[in-house]
Amino acid sequence: MKLEGLSICGYNRVKPSGRPTPAINPATSGQLEPGYFWATPEDVTQAAQLAARAFLEYRRWSATRRADLLSRIAGLIEASASALVERAHQETALPPARLQSETSRTCGQLRLFAALLQSSFGAQRGTKTAAPEPGEGGPTRQHLSLPAPNYDSACQEGWWLDARIDHGNSERKPLPKPDVRSILVPLGPVAVFSSSNFPFAFSVAGGDTASALAAGCPVIVKPHQGHLGASEMVGIIVQQAAGECNAPDGVFSLLFGPGRDVGMALVKHPLIKAVGFTGSRAGGRALMDAAAARPEPIPVYAEMGSINPVFLLPGALQQRAAALATGLHASVTLGVGQFCTNPGLVFIEPEPANRIFLQSLESLMAATPPGTMLTQSIHSEYTAGVEKFSRTPGVRCVTTPPADGIQGGAQARTALFVTDAETFLSHHTLMDEVFGPSTLVVQCGSRSQMLVAAQELEGQLTATVHGTPEDFATNAELLAILETKVGRLVCNGFPTGVEVCHAMTHGGPYPATADGRSTSVGTRAIQRFVRPLCYQNFPDAALPDELKESNPLGIWRLVDGKLSKKS
Ligand code: NAP
Repeated sequence: MKLEGLSICGYNRVKPSGRPTPAINPATSGQLEPGYFWATPEDVTQAAQLAARAFLEYRRWSATRRADLLSRIAGLIEASASALVERAHQETALPPARLQSETSRTCGQLRLFAALLQSSFGAQRGTKTAAPEPGEGGPTRQHLSLPAPNYDSACQEGWWLDARIDHGNSERKPLPKPDVRSILVPLGPVAVFSSSNFPFAFSVAGGDTASALAAGCPVIVKPHQGHLGASEMVGIIVQQAAGECNAPDGVFSLLFGPGRDVGMALVKHPLIKAVGFTGSRAGGRALMDAAAARPEPIPVYAEMGSINPVFLLPGALQQRAAALATGLHASVTLGVGQFCTNPGLVFIEPEPANRIFLQSLESLMAATPPGTMLTQSIHSEYTAGVEKFSRTPGVRCVTTPPADGIQGGAQARTALFVTDAETFLSHHTLMDEVFGPSTLVVQCGSRSQMLVAAQELEGQLTATVHGTPEDFATNAELLAILETKVGRLVCNGFPTGVEVCHAMTHGGPYPATADGRSTSVGTRAIQRFVRPLCYQNFPDAALPDELKESNPLGIWRLVDGKLSKKS
């Protein structure tokens, strides 16, 4: 695949303008070819206008055609996986095995949404599938022989559309009852900001793009500068898949450039109707504020990270202190700690077993070799965060300072901090995310102090509780507090590793996300990019198939208050 360093606007490449910016190898600080040209404000307008035009057609595509687009993207990613992994490894220093499994996850996500969509046009019912042959003058497309989509039969029922029918009654007194029917419809063009730490799964064809395309929304991606080449490669793949499916020009664009220019221009553009983002709180908040200040405010679904508190209850510590240290260490240091689900905060009660836990954790953290972080700026922020914790009175850093003895590159050491609950509660900055292989252990003087600390926590993606059955029986209050704070509660495990499935919530109350009612992982993510549309007293022929009286798609609907697949 030939990289050109140019943005993608629908089926065209954007002409170069200004000086190119090189991609960087964080392990060596060396430059990678090609240089990347930033999109201009005119390119943003062009992409938004194309997307808005494409929306008029794409929103009417059958679910089967959208499923076909998602499946083709997955197939093409698989076909190019080794080249994608090689480039992403150079740009992120993430190990090839991890990147390989991330491409599989990305394809799995795309196919999960394809399966969800297929629910409204069940393949087993023999409905005609796939795109029509491209018309003359359409984009060039190279047909690849892709494996048949493996749709999950559990999803074949159209439930996600939330179709509802309340039949009218002209005889009702004192007023006739109208016939009211509703269904979820797509919002319009979506701007997606891809993340630094998942160059595939939360990037150009990642979860936000997959869920928006599945919902029927065109997508314009602002890729992360930490993996420009991998972004261009996946962008070319999505463009090709769109061409193979005869998608309208502009259903997908990819605009390189700084977030504050290109990204902000996208969020402020009146034709953009929603935003998906994964990154820092400062970045997410800036986009939320800009979107809210527009003449027409739009939703921003920002996933802004979390410190993911872990509570080690007394019974668990007595039973398995060393094993808890081993599990926690593995979770904290996974991927050089660069996960939004990294456990950055650990609470323990006064127990004799604490000593074993702390000693084991300290030796494991100290023995961990330095790792290369994703970008120089993430490395600088990690170093600054660790220094801030180290300078906080009452906080002890029990490992070697992260930068000591390291020359050049974006190499970072692990950091383990220990403090007491009073110090934690009197320094709000100890709740700040330190994105990297660092964690803070808070020794609570009593169970009630642990409850006070839990109550003080901000919104989180996850909280984890380790305990015995007796611990859980005597800590119902802790669980009740945590239920109000997080999107996912983990029992006797660790928060890193997010299963992609229907029931997953990768979200949580602010500031973990912009909107705690949402998730960016799992099929529920599609709901971020749809809205309910209601038809009152419409003739049957003018209704969408999903709401026609005869239920031609055979989907589940709420008919007069009862779930039904009948007409
Ligand atoms: P980031 O700085 O928030 O950047 C993420 C994306 O948002 C980039 O494309 C960036 O564009 C854009 N952006 C940032 N600030 C913006 C602004 N004010 N206006 C418009 N666009 C803006 O995140 P990062 O580069 O991934 O890492 C920095 C920190 O984010 C980390 O140290 C960590 O604390 C956190 N982080 C959190 C997660 C998570 O899962 N929640 C994941 C990764 C990182 P440009 O870079 O092009 O300017």
